[in-house]
Amino acid sequence: MKVAFLGLGIMGRPMAANLTKAGHEVTVWNRTPGKTVPGARRAATPREASAGADVVWMCVADTAAVEQVLFGEEGVEPSLRAGMIVADSSTIAPAATLRNAERVRARGADYADAPVTGSKIGAENGQLIFIAGGREETLEKLGPLFRAMGKSVMRMGEVSKGQSAKLAMNLMIALIYEGFAEALVLAGKLGVKAETLLGLINASMVRSGVVEYKAPFVLRRDFSPNFPMRLMHKDIHLMLDAAREQGVKLPGLETVDTIYEAARADRDLDYAATLKVLEEWAGKRS
Ligand code: NAP
Repeated sequence: MKVAFLGLGIMGRPMAANLTKAGHEVTVWNRTPGKTVPGARRAATPREASAGADVVWMCVADTAAVEQVLFGEEGVEPSLRAGMIVADSSTIAPAATLRNAERVRARGADYADAPVTGSKIGAENGQLIFIAGGREETLEKLGPLFRAMGKSVMRMGEVSKGQSAKLAMNLMIALIYEGFAEALVLAGKLGVKAETLLGLINASMVRSGVVEYKAPFVLRRDFSPNFPMRLMHKDIHLMLDAAREQGVKLPGLETVDTIYEAARADRDLDYAATLKVLEEWAGKRS
């Protein structure tokens, strides 16, 4: 398929590379020029990249970035035509997704939200899980592209439901990691080694995929960004906004938000670095 891939960050670049490897004809664009993908043509603007494409695939930072790429100056909108599909793997607001879909559909194209889970390593290995919202026939048409970049597609319902489910899932990730970090700090102060505690966690019902993935990085004190803290904090705000709109209280997440506020200086590190705030408060490490 002819694909315009917009956004070559931690996730987008390996995703686009997997599309070229699978034989798709890919044109890439990134806001900051200079990023390349082997086998892909480079375009100067989102509009140029999407002209004549079957599918426009976005993976940019946030809601404002998606709106800019689609509808801003040199955005995709004038290139839209009947039969084209816009797919969004950025994590953004469900309400904005509905607005984007309406505007894209007004031009005869269709829209699907397809945020991902699997982090940097999943993007690199083509093992992402897509959390999809959209019309069945549209998601079917995207099948070859999903298969090139991921291991499965979980269909959540109509357009925007992928984003809604992704936010609910990331809410759990933020709380599970916070629980792990608090347990590590308390256990450490009480004289139990992190490795020893981890052995217990992994042998018990407390075991979790989040802990399994993050623990080796934490034990090595490697906080280089896989999922940058600034993006998890962005997601926390999306969750809190959605909760406010829906009249839902999220007291656990509101507390976690305060930790992310306190950790702002490390916002470009992985979200696992929120641990350092707890350690500082405990007078454990600097
Ligand atoms: P990233 O490395 O920070 O890359 C962000 C991308 O968005 C870059 O290409 C950046 O361009 C572009 N961008 C930012 N603001 C823009 C704007 N106003 N207009 C146009 N482009 C803009 O982020 P990432 O880790 O790839 O994440 C991308 C999306 O996937 C985010 O929504 C994130 O929440 C989600 N996600 C990430 C992970 C993960 O583990 N990293 C996992 C699941 C979902 P520049 O190069 O010019 O800055």
